[in-house]
Amino acid sequence: MVPSCHLNNRSGSLTLATRHPSNYDIETLAIISGRASGEHHGVVNTPVYRASTILHSDAKAFETRHDIFDRYKVVYGLLGTPTTFALEEAMIALTGGHDAVLTSSGLSAVTISLLSFINAGEHLLMTDSVYWPTRAFCDQTLSRFGVDVTYYDPTIGADIESLIRPNTRVIFLESPGSMTFEVQDIPAITKIAKKREITTLLDATWATPLYFDAFGHGVDVAIHAATKYLVGHSDVLLGVIVSNERTWETVRQTKTRFGEGAGPDEVYLTTRGLRTLPIRLKNHQENGLTLARWLEQRPEVASVLHPALPGAPGHELFKRDFTGACGLFGVILNDYSTETVRTMLNSLELFGIGASWGGYESLIIPAFPDRYRTATQWNAPGPLLRLHAGLESPTDLIADLEQGFKQLADQGTNSIT
Ligand SMILES: *Cc1c(COP(=O)(O)O)cnc(C)c1O
Repeated sequence: MVPSCHLNNRSGSLTLATRHPSNYDIETLAIISGRASGEHHGVVNTPVYRASTILHSDAKAFETRHDIFDRYKVVYGLLGTPTTFALEEAMIALTGGHDAVLTSSGLSAVTISLLSFINAGEHLLMTDSVYWPTRAFCDQTLSRFGVDVTYYDPTIGADIESLIRPNTRVIFLESPGSMTFEVQDIPAITKIAKKREITTLLDATWATPLYFDAFGHGVDVAIHAATKYLVGHSDVLLGVIVSNERTWETVRQTKTRFGEGAGPDEVYLTTRGLRTLPIRLKNHQENGLTLARWLEQRPEVASVLHPALPGAPGHELFKRDFTGACGLFGVILNDYSTETVRTMLNSLELFGIGASWGGYESLIIPAFPDRYRTATQWNAPGPLLRLHAGLESPTDLIADLEQGFKQLADQGTNSIT
């Protein structure tokens, strides 16, 4: 049965009449979850509700309205509307989490998650391969509030225990790592964290809810930059924080106290994107692997950082823990100069040069992990590129890379010239 919401006119609150049966496959959940067509004149997609003020049925309902922990008690636009609830419900259904909140960007989902669990005088363990703006938030903002941050080797696994101090409250993970694609031993780390009563936060953007079961692997809070694949069209910024039973009230409260929220158009477009996520992601995965396999054979390439490739760094952990790969991966070239690589990148027609990823289009950018790493050294034999395989024909994408690589061959490596 398609779930429906009904408006309880006496209290003015909105409650879900039915919950999803949980025995559906995730592809089906992506289609049916967070829909309440019965409440919206039968329209398929939950409409865009624009709201600041929400009227109450009577004075008593207004006086007793404050319950930020009841998603369906509509009290103020910033706290949610049926548009918001639809996406929150869908994210809960897809992840198996206990609650989900929406924020204005992926980065604000990261910062709100951190601020939910770390206090002045406490210690945070942060992976050295983290998304750079998350690192900047720790170094430039959390540091001002007396939080101590230690960066750790993303491949540390169970040895993380040696870095835990009496005041360690949070371990932050991101797997695979931003730009460098190290796969973390998430179950080993969450097991130790549980034993030591430390909260684990995972930036789960790369795998989306489809290809990694964060809660099944012991994570407390899963953070998604919906901006990427959930939206899928490079035109919306939005973050989602999904939390488990132990953490959800703290997350929801912190998000509310910060006045965080997401705009109605952004939420609507994200929910719409979610409906096609399984089919898009499958295609991104196929195109990404096709490009990665081709790149692996090229004489210009030193190595390919794609966790789903047999023999690639982190592949064994990937095989054990993930159910698929998205279209984002890295390539280390031979020792070409920055100028040579620029010429090659500029010659590409189908790969755009730009930040972010997860849209339908292919992207390529140079990356410089040696500029900001502190716990580990980045020792690559040549320049690093990050590729996003879009939904174009892989034949065309390979032809484009091939002509781009001619620029490399013409210029030669540093060791030759
Ligand atoms: C893009 C990204 C973010 C931030 O998302 P925005 O919506 O751009 O703020 C966070 N984490 C990871 C891993 C990302 O790739």
